[in-house]
Amino acid sequence: MIPLSVPNLKGNELAYVKQAVESEWVSTAGPYVRQFEKDIAEYVHVPSAVACQSGTAGLHIALQICGVSRDDLVIVPTLTFIAAVNPVRYLGADPVFMDCDDSLCMDPEKLAGFCREECIYKNNTLYHKETGRRIAAFVVVHVFGNMADMEVILRITEQYNLKVVEDATESIGTKYETGLYAGRFAGTMGDIGVYSFNGNKIITTGGGGMIVSRNMDYLREAKHLTTQAKADEANFIHDEVGYNYRLTNLQAALGIAQLEQLETFISTKKRNYDLYRKLLPENAGLAILKYREGIRSNCWFYSLMCEDFSVWKPAEIIQKLKDQHIQTRPIWGLIHEQAPYRGSICYKIEKADYYWKRVVNLPCSTNLTPEEVSRVVHTILSD
Ligand SMILES: *Cc1c(COP(=O)(O)O)cnc(C)c1O
Repeated sequence: MIPLSVPNLKGNELAYVKQAVESEWVSTAGPYVRQFEKDIAEYVHVPSAVACQSGTAGLHIALQICGVSRDDLVIVPTLTFIAAVNPVRYLGADPVFMDCDDSLCMDPEKLAGFCREECIYKNNTLYHKETGRRIAAFVVVHVFGNMADMEVILRITEQYNLKVVEDATESIGTKYETGLYAGRFAGTMGDIGVYSFNGNKIITTGGGGMIVSRNMDYLREAKHLTTQAKADEANFIHDEVGYNYRLTNLQAALGIAQLEQLETFISTKKRNYDLYRKLLPENAGLAILKYREGIRSNCWFYSLMCEDFSVWKPAEIIQKLKDQHIQTRPIWGLIHEQAPYRGSICYKIEKADYYWKRVVNLPCSTNLTPEEVSRVVHTILSD
């Protein structure tokens, strides 16, 4: 059996968790939580970070801090995991769905086109013409370890004074190597960024997330909101509606050990990505999608693109691999077509539909051996 994406816990995980259990600090207090926040902040070069219970919880808090409230609109991609969009609804706002470009991340030209054609900008605020609703924020997702085109995107969002939430849940470790943002990590260029440590992500705490920003006010607010909004902790005085979105000391113990191995995991993922690309013949109507030029990707997920749709059908490839005990998955169903979001505002969705029909995600665990990569490719190519 070759699984799609499973945890790799062969470092100090057991030692740190054992320490947490032996010290009996297993819940939301305890030194590992603060240590994990500090380690992540150092790794992605931001002043501080706030641990939270999941990537979804982090995105909820990030949008709230960006001022998203009832009846606002928030610009989101349609080709992503639905957890990038649901928090918009948690806050009583609605999404506006946008297309992707060939990176599978949001298409900046269409973002600009939407703002220019369908919106008006007055008093430093962007409004949707047809509905008159305020556009409060923008969620950019760094899909599968790739980097969205942040240079262009941030020029547009600055022009229209839009707050930017970076859903970097799949992309911790991805960074620019050249250009305006050389050295900057996914999640650290917008107003607030969020990472996920769910079991299928490149590093895992079983479940968990992290909120990062270069704005200390935002981080203070994130800590406040994720810990029940205590104004005076000793006397149980609360100054707003908060949440219990805390990470536990046990989870943070796992996270610290995982982060120690992140660079090694990225090397393994890169080796396997290069091998997949090498083993797949050119001009076969099949290809592994490339990551953006000028970045160091964490290579989280590999996307097999069925370019020649008449020869290669994703459903058939998935079944063929499944018969050989190899686990794969299709890309996500487009979110604007899902039950809770039908009838939402959409802008020129074309490429998302094209890629949605053609992409299969191949096994990518950091435990995956070169022999297994070769077995996957041979199975795909077999009759
Ligand atoms: C995993 C993921 C999330 C949610 O993270 P959880 O920790 O599972 O809540 C959000 N957005 C995207 C794009 C994801 O892949």
